[in-house]
Amino acid sequence: MASATGSPGSKASLRLWKNARRVDPATGAVRSGSLLTWGDRIVSAGEVGDPKDLLGLPVEAVDLDGRLLLPGLTDAHCHLVRYGLDLTRTADLTGVASIEEMLHRLQVHAARTPGDWVIGRGFDQDRLRERRFPRRDELDARFPDRPVLLHRICCHAVVANRAALDRARLTSADGLFTEDAMALLLSAVPAPSLEETVHAARTAIRAYHRGGFTAAHVLIGHPDEVRALQILRQQGEMGLRLRLILPYSWIDSMEALGVSSGFGDDMLRIAALKSFADGSLGARTAALRTPYADDPENAGLLLLSAEELVERIRRAHRAGLRSALHAIGDAAVEAVLLAAERTQDDGPPPRIEHASVVDPDQAARMGRLGIAAAVQPQFIASDFWTPERLGPERSAWAYPFRTLKDAGVALAASTDCPVELPEAAAVFKGFISRSDKRLSESLAPTEALRAFTLDAERSLGEEFPAPWETGARADFLVLSKDTEWPLPVDSPWPMERIVVGGTARSVPQEL
Ligand SMILES: [Zn+2]
Repeated sequence: MASATGSPGSKASLRLWKNARRVDPATGAVRSGSLLTWGDRIVSAGEVGDPKDLLGLPVEAVDLDGRLLLPGLTDAHCHLVRYGLDLTRTADLTGVASIEEMLHRLQVHAARTPGDWVIGRGFDQDRLRERRFPRRDELDARFPDRPVLLHRICCHAVVANRAALDRARLTSADGLFTEDAMALLLSAVPAPSLEETVHAARTAIRAYHRGGFTAAHVLIGHPDEVRALQILRQQGEMGLRLRLILPYSWIDSMEALGVSSGFGDDMLRIAALKSFADGSLGARTAALRTPYADDPENAGLLLLSAEELVERIRRAHRAGLRSALHAIGDAAVEAVLLAAERTQDDGPPPRIEHASVVDPDQAARMGRLGIAAAVQPQFIASDFWTPERLGPERSAWAYPFRTLKDAGVALAASTDCPVELPEAAAVFKGFISRSDKRLSESLAPTEALRAFTLDAERSLGEEFPAPWETGARADFLVLSKDTEWPLPVDSPWPMERIVVGGTARSVPQEL
């Protein structure tokens, strides 16, 4: 922003962003003109002349010189603080191609991380040359004394070495644990301090800015995550609008406090309670109506029946809380649908987290019930084995974005970070160009943009003035001058600034 007059970071509350081109997510139209913001809100978009003051208040002008503005983008399902902890205390195992490479990365990380536990996250056994999980004895050979715990990329399976098993007073020949069986092992890992958690959250927010996000719906796993986010909020360091999705197991506390969905402010707000109806396709624990094509004895795990889901949705309704229900396989989606059908008269419908395998009839029922879905387009490329795992017929129901959209389902764009990286451009690409080449299920660029904006908000029942309208939040991305809409899908977005609540920030290059 070389030609800016005045610094976009200063405190003047009326700001005129001149010579902008802004993309309307409702229509995809690109409109030229100015944007007047007051504090964290948009006053008007269009031609307002070039006033030096309005109602006696000084107007600070920022000349955007024809740059393209996208409305602020939301990642509608992520584990923000856990991602921050990954960035700051965990060995990154994403993309490792062999068990040897994994062990090498762990050793490098362990040498740099004094202390006890060595934690890794992000491997995918289907992407290893060996096409199997690492074994306990392989970890023992390199780490005879320090406890080692490795999380599969989906976090629904872990492998531990002998020292880790000893700490948890467990025995296991191969060291592999999935789903509920992981609990004892995980509880043996010492928790990060609050200070470490604050540092982790701050680091994750920077990563989100770098990835092009101004807002996120955050899955919470521990009270310190909420404490850390409040500390950043109080210190004025938030910079990301957060909606918190808390574990359903906290319902007693929510009832005791009388806190319901919407509690908080526009930067940090409680939105919903989350329950798991099943596991993941990667760990073959997602609940399918018929067995896995590549594991004919196994149809996954339905963790909650429709009756149990009804009970949870009803109890949340009575407390004024929305429900967010993790359902990946079609049997889990079915359980959620049955539960939603039975609770539709007493409160807002649940949102489905993932909705990865959904047949056309289920999509139609989701549309009728007003059920939104937080979907992860990056999974299509990462989970390249999906067709083999589901078989030819059912593969047509995997990530059915077009079918869902045409059925009237609000699709909320998300990463499930740290399962995928928080990069808006990669999510956008997943919606549009689908690496599985099932282009009949792809979205048009403007539809994808809506999934990051209007539909992401709708998915948690929030209704705001649409982007660029009077009263809308002054959240947007500033892209370089020569950028045209729609954006290219195969190159990173040329972001120059990220504006949250009317405050412009540079895009962090390092975390
Ligand atoms: Zn998740």
